[in-house]
Amino acid sequence: MISAVMPNYARKDLAFVRGEGVYLVDGQGRRYLDFCAGIAVTALGHCHPHLVETLQAQAGKLWHCSNLYQIPEQDRLAERLVDATFADSVFFCNSGAEAVECGLKLVRKYQDDHGAPERYRIVTCAGGFHGRTLATIAAGAQAKHTAGFTPLPEGFDQVAFGNLNELRAAITPETAAILVEPVQGEGGVRPATLDYLRELRRIADEFGVLLYFDEVQTGVGRTGKLFAYEWAGIEPDLLSVAKGLGGGFPVGACLAKEHVAASLTPGSHGSTFGGNPLAMAVGNAVLDVLLADGFLDAVDAKARILWRRLEKVVVSHPRIFKGLRGAGMLLALECEVENTRIIDRLEESGLLAVAAGDNVVRLVPPLIIEEQHIDEAVSVIDRVSAELEHVSSI
Ligand SMILES: *Cc1c(COP(=O)(O)O)cnc(C)c1O
Repeated sequence: MISAVMPNYARKDLAFVRGEGVYLVDGQGRRYLDFCAGIAVTALGHCHPHLVETLQAQAGKLWHCSNLYQIPEQDRLAERLVDATFADSVFFCNSGAEAVECGLKLVRKYQDDHGAPERYRIVTCAGGFHGRTLATIAAGAQAKHTAGFTPLPEGFDQVAFGNLNELRAAITPETAAILVEPVQGEGGVRPATLDYLRELRRIADEFGVLLYFDEVQTGVGRTGKLFAYEWAGIEPDLLSVAKGLGGGFPVGACLAKEHVAASLTPGSHGSTFGGNPLAMAVGNAVLDVLLADGFLDAVDAKARILWRRLEKVVVSHPRIFKGLRGAGMLLALECEVENTRIIDRLEESGLLAVAAGDNVVRLVPPLIIEEQHIDEAVSVIDRVSAELEHVSSI
């Protein structure tokens, strides 16, 4: 008989009852160092005192009132995001897919408003991931996500990630935008080069199309800057963010330059829950921590330590790992053996990691990890690798 919950997830036989900073605790009281962070969501770890205090205080005041009314907490979070980024205006929603969906609609509406309704196609990259709605699986165009769900919304043209010739050739008079993840997360933690990102900006300008970054995974400090595009010294025209933005509370947002955002006229788009007072209070609390003096610099410094330590582990276990890639605290161990085998062994040893495409072990710790947690994670990975080498040599 079918389980009460639909069977779309292949879940591990593990349930947590509590979170404490960078650790999760299961029903038997076993502690796990959480380098999964709910897949890059719990950026400030579990039960961060400032987030707990904010959520509890707001829960006693007002949860939800609808976007029929003024929501000062929403204005405040939008203004802070505008101050800290390329953007002039923000739309709030509840998930990554919705944040991308808003951007996809906005791109079409912008072109339509500017007398070019024929410009509706969007160039995306192979290996990309943009969510699980019909439009976002069409954008991602991965067979494992689209199988059985056709017909899909039309208008996406895929090119190889990192290949500028293919990209240029794919742009036609019908192209509205280029949509790219600065680091492909689900696809296997594949970072674009900074030169590639800069060229995307140049090409978008040359052909008069919009540059749209999906930073649902790379945003909110994950790469050591508030957003990954900052590393390239360029700005997109619009950007989607979610995962880390609510620190575990569902919050998504689409950020855009004024000329683009102006197309989201009253009534053109909306969300019942998006930007409600409870979500916005938590989002503001996340930014309180993230934008505090020195926080992002510390993330960058710790990420560099983590990188150096992992590089040594990778080199010393060539039969288990063939490389390390990623950016900031979005890293991946490229595996010689099946990634899920390594992840299962890490979990048995008290370290949570998560798989991603291209047979990698993805490491996405909370941004608040300290050096001692890096030591702990690296020593678990080192030990498990040695054990796996031993097993595979018998
Ligand atoms: C996770 C992710 C999404 C989808 O987010 P959901 O909250 O699961 O809808 C979209 N884009 C990227 C880059 C992601 O990593």
